[in-house]
Amino acid sequence: MESLNLLFTCPHGGEDILSNPALLRNRHNYPPSCKNCESFEKDSDLRTMELTTSVANKISILSGREVPTQIALINRDYIDFNRQVECAIEPSNDMTAENNYYEYHKGILDVIKKMHLQNENSFKFLFDIHGTGRTKVEDCGGQVHPIDIIIGTDQGRSIHALNEFDPNAFWGDKGLINLLKSKDKKVWPAEPNQDSDSRILDGGYTIKTFGSSRLFEGLVAIQCEVIPEHRLDPQKRELFANIMSECIWNFIEPFI
Ligand SMILES: [Zn+2]
Repeated sequence: MESLNLLFTCPHGGEDILSNPALLRNRHNYPPSCKNCESFEKDSDLRTMELTTSVANKISILSGREVPTQIALINRDYIDFNRQVECAIEPSNDMTAENNYYEYHKGILDVIKKMHLQNENSFKFLFDIHGTGRTKVEDCGGQVHPIDIIIGTDQGRSIHALNEFDPNAFWGDKGLINLLKSKDKKVWPAEPNQDSDSRILDGGYTIKTFGSSRLFEGLVAIQCEVIPEHRLDPQKRELFANIMSECIWNFIEPFI
């Protein structure tokens, strides 16, 4: 079965530990380049591994094609796979963490290259799946918005190729945000002008590195952060995975 030009990544749901305790990340050791990085929220991404697998499987059924995934298995206490390497791991002579980090990102690169060989000209999509501990977002006017899911596009940069092709593709009726809203899901940002309010929520290293960058022009990368209610309980997770998979598939199908 040929695989779809769609990759799911999941950097933070892993629970495996490394045997060397010296590899535990120590925030007092962060390099200066990392001092302003988002603080580390423990357990905020619980069960994202299961959610990612479920969404990918459901899209595979909807499309009749294989859907690749790259899921990090090691706990974020040791490796934060969604940061640049010097921020991601504890400096050490033991290369286990660093090797795991590079293996994860090389895995992403290998899938993208394979997609490119399959069809050079079509769009490719990457969805990076996270959890958030938040259940609401405050906009810059102080108004509070309850949320089910946060969608990050690095201020539109990581979906640049798609916007250039069709400015309506993302924000139109068939765009990801409105498809989710049509299923009664509360999405942040809900409107294009809210994008600029959400800088800190707008996506991390993976979508910034791979999304519509000079190296991967046709790659559209989107970060999704899901609230605990739709991840922790297995039945609710399945319901949410149904909605996510339908919306993602309906959104990308015209472009791949
Ligand atoms: Zn995360």
